[in-house]
Amino acid sequence: MTARPPAELLFFWDYDTQWGGDRSRLPGGPKSWGALEFSNTERLLELHGEYEVPACFAAVGSAALPGERPYHDPAQIRRIHAAGHEIGSHSHRHEWLPGLDRRALRETLQASKDALEQCIGAPVTTFVPPWNQPFDYPRGFSFSLSERREGGAHRTGLVRLCETLAETGYRFCRVAYRPMHQRLAEMVVRRRIEQLGRVEEIRGVSCARLNTPGGFGRHTVEVLDRAVRRGGLTVVYGHPHSLTLGNSQDERHLAPFLQRVAAMVKSGHLKVSLPREAIVQGAAA
Ligand SMILES: [Zn+2]
Repeated sequence: MTARPPAELLFFWDYDTQWGGDRSRLPGGPKSWGALEFSNTERLLELHGEYEVPACFAAVGSAALPGERPYHDPAQIRRIHAAGHEIGSHSHRHEWLPGLDRRALRETLQASKDALEQCIGAPVTTFVPPWNQPFDYPRGFSFSLSERREGGAHRTGLVRLCETLAETGYRFCRVAYRPMHQRLAEMVVRRRIEQLGRVEEIRGVSCARLNTPGGFGRHTVEVLDRAVRRGGLTVVYGHPHSLTLGNSQDERHLAPFLQRVAAMVKSGHLKVSLPREAIVQGAAA
C-alpha cells in the first residue's frame, strides 16, 4: 500500500454579530439576526466539544468591547478562547474592505486586533475578510470589475490587504479569489469547481483559499471526501447565526459533518488544524 498524502481541514466560523447584520449587502438591506450569533455560538461550543473538532472563530473586534448584545459580548469571546478554539479577526465593524483606502484599512485591522487581544489576553494573528473580499488579485489571475467600480480610486485589493496585515502583525489570512481560468471552466460545466488547496504566501502572510461553498452540505462533503482520498487542504466556514436558519449551515447539516470529520480524524485520515498552526514555513514572522 502506498502512503497517502495527509489531508487537512481548517474550520472557520464568521462571528459577525449585529455589526454584520447592519451592514448586510444582501437584498433588503440591514438584517436583524445579530442576537442569534450569541445563542447559537453556545450551541456550537457544545457540538464542537462533543466531536472534539477545534475551529477558528473570526470575530468583529467591536464585539469584544464592553457593552450589550446584539453588538457586544466579550465574556462569550473569552469562553470560545477558553474552550481551545482560536480567536481570529473579522475586521473591527464588518467593513467592506475593497472600499477602504490604506489608512482606513490599517485602522480597522489594528483596532480589531487590539480589542480582541485585550479581551482574551493572547495574540490574534489570523484574519478573515468580511464577505470574503477583496477578490481582486491580478497575480492570481483574479479580476473583480465590481470592486474596481465600487471601491473607487483608493480601493483595497488582495495585495494591499496582505501587506497591511503583515504590517499590523497578522500572519494568516483566509482568501477567496478565483482565477479567471477556473471561473471560465465553471461557466462551461455550470457548477463550481473546487480545487484541493494548500497554504500559499502573499506578501509575507500565509493564505488559505476557501474551496467549499460555505456551509456543510453535499458539495462541502464532496470536497472533504476527495481531500481524504487524494490529500490536500479543505477550508470550510459558516456563520453561527445561520445554525438555526435552515440553510446549508444549519445544525441538521453541521452535526453529521462534524461526526464525519471526527471519524476521519479517529481513523488517522484527517488532521484538523487551527490557522495559527498553518503558517507557511519561512513566511515573515
Ligand atoms: Zn462576516
